[in-house]
Amino acid sequence: MPPSLRLTFDDGPGPSTPLLLDVLKDASFKATFFVLGKHLAAEQDLAVRMLREGHTLGNHTWTHARPGDLSADDLIEEIEATDALIRAAHRHAGLDAPHAIALRLPYGLQADDPRRVVLDRLARPHAGWTLIVDDWRRPAPDAQTLAGAMLDHVAAQTASGHDAVICLHDSSPRHDTRPATVEAVQLLLGHADWRDAQ
Ligand SMILES: [Zn+2]
Repeated sequence: MPPSLRLTFDDGPGPSTPLLLDVLKDASFKATFFVLGKHLAAEQDLAVRMLREGHTLGNHTWTHARPGDLSADDLIEEIEATDALIRAAHRHAGLDAPHAIALRLPYGLQADDPRRVVLDRLARPHAGWTLIVDDWRRPAPDAQTLAGAMLDHVAAQTASGHDAVICLHDSSPRHDTRPATVEAVQLLLGHADWRDAQ
C-alpha cells in the first residue's frame, strides 16, 4: 500500500495559491490550508474554490504574531475572528461548516510556549507536522531540493510505519509568492500515486 501523505500549507491564501490548487487538482490530491485571517478576509472567492475542490481550511490566527507578542485574550480574539471567516467561507460555498476547525499556531508549539494557556482555555489541540519544509526561507531553496527533502521524509516515515504530515507555505505574512513551493509539490505528486490521508 502506498504511504499515507498529508500536505498542509500555512500563511496563505496568497498569490501562488491558485496555481497550487491547479497542481493539486491535476493530482486529485486534497490538502489542508492553515490560513491567516488577514489574507482570507480579502480572498473569500478563493476560499470557496478551495472548499469546493475538497480541501480543508485550518486556522493559523489572524496576523501571525510571534509567541508572547499577544495577550491570551487578544490571541483568542484573533483565533475566533479567523474561525468566523472560515465558517463564512463554508456558507458561501454552500457547505456545512465543520464542528471543529484545526488550529496551528504561528512558528509551531514549543515545550515552554506561552500560548499553551490559550489552547487550554479553548480546549483545542495543536495541529503539528512530521516535517516542516524550509520553503519559507528567503530566498527559498529550489524546487528539486524541496521535493527531495519531502521524498526522503516520506520514505523514512514509511519505513518506520508512520504517516507523513508535511508543512509547506503557500504564502507568508507579507503575502509573498511561492513559485518553488508550487513546483516542488508538482514534482512530489508526480513521483508516485500517493494516497492522501483525507
Ligand atoms: Zn506560519
